[in-house]
Amino acid sequence: MTREVESRLAITGASRDGLTVGLRCESGRIAEIGEGVVPQAGDVVVEAGGAHLVPALLNGHTHAAMTLFRGQGGDLPLMRWLRERIWPVEARLEPDDVYWGTRLACVEMIRTGTARFWDMYWHPQATAQAVRDAGLRATIGAPLIETGGVAVSLRDAALESLDALARFGDEAAPALAPHAIYTVGEESLRWVAELAGERDLPVHIHLSETRQEVEDCLREHGKRPAAYLDDLGLLGERTLLAHGVWLDDEELELIGERGATVVTNPAANMKLAVGGAFPYPAARSAGVSVGLGTDGPGSNDSLDLVSEVKLFALIQKHRAEDPAIVTAAEALEIACGAGSPLLGGAATLEAGGPADFLLLRADMPEMSVGDHTSDLVYAASGSVVDTTVVGGRVLMRDGIVEGADEVVAQARERATRLGLT
Ligand SMILES: [Zn+2]
Repeated sequence: MTREVESRLAITGASRDGLTVGLRCESGRIAEIGEGVVPQAGDVVVEAGGAHLVPALLNGHTHAAMTLFRGQGGDLPLMRWLRERIWPVEARLEPDDVYWGTRLACVEMIRTGTARFWDMYWHPQATAQAVRDAGLRATIGAPLIETGGVAVSLRDAALESLDALARFGDEAAPALAPHAIYTVGEESLRWVAELAGERDLPVHIHLSETRQEVEDCLREHGKRPAAYLDDLGLLGERTLLAHGVWLDDEELELIGERGATVVTNPAANMKLAVGGAFPYPAARSAGVSVGLGTDGPGSNDSLDLVSEVKLFALIQKHRAEDPAIVTAAEALEIACGAGSPLLGGAATLEAGGPADFLLLRADMPEMSVGDHTSDLVYAASGSVVDTTVVGGRVLMRDGIVEGADEVVAQARERATRLGLT
């Protein structure tokens, strides 16, 4: 088991597109991949034993530390869930709660094949530290929320968070994360747009999650949510919109024109019973960049993106009454983050690309017969991931994440402190 930074790593005997291949990493990137690639002197060698070599996944929207909130009000509607079960506890959160909740999330993500994620949560510097210590990569939003009664972080706090995030570099890239148009006022949203422009920061925001949000926006602003954001200067290539369930064709055209990304979260949408599904076929036609997320583990409740990709494909097929509307390969590309330049993921492994990849156990029953892309999307769960490599570092080998027991114990202790267990 190797947790140290392998500056040079070689994979041998992996299966890819029916061929037996090797892969070499140097300085966090893929140096060589293909048949005939063999280890060089000084490489740390991982023998894949015929395991499938595939790109790692990218979770485009989550609140990782909310692992601590699992099982809290899981059968309530969104606003009651937030007001009664989440916000009162969040008001008492300390950075160490966020740190250990995020570490727990990172163990789950490593185990289920996620290398990178986009996060929005309190104490983002604690999230960043957890991401760094776990060996993953994340884009971490400095949160801004103005309602909810107890959980209030204003602009100065967001600026402080940005300063704290600045020291983490590529492992934890900063973003601005105004929670939603119904929790952040117009003036602050304009401030976010201006700051994002000045500092060239991505903006990560929930949008058009519930029908109520659209109705309220129409009543208060006389326009639908995407048009409202656009008028505030918040719809651009660096904007990530989580959910987009109730976007209409006109909004999708606008989002496509502006180059913003929509990250769909089908499990959370179904669990919170929002009553619709992200209109993916229309979004695709409008040229909208699309990613896949789990949303927070308090409202999904899983961080397993392999399971999420199945739900994405199924809900789109079901909604369209057309099983061909999205293929397994297309759904998987989206889960890799390859459907959006902002997310920047890759659906293929190539020399020069980031060394973020997985070895999937070809001997698992779900993966042993048939096309492995189809098997991965429709038959498997994240439990088929044997090895996870991020930035050339082996974070899991043979299904074992070093230090996971300590993380589980610490996260339990923090949840107990918060009265959540
Ligand atoms: Zn969310």
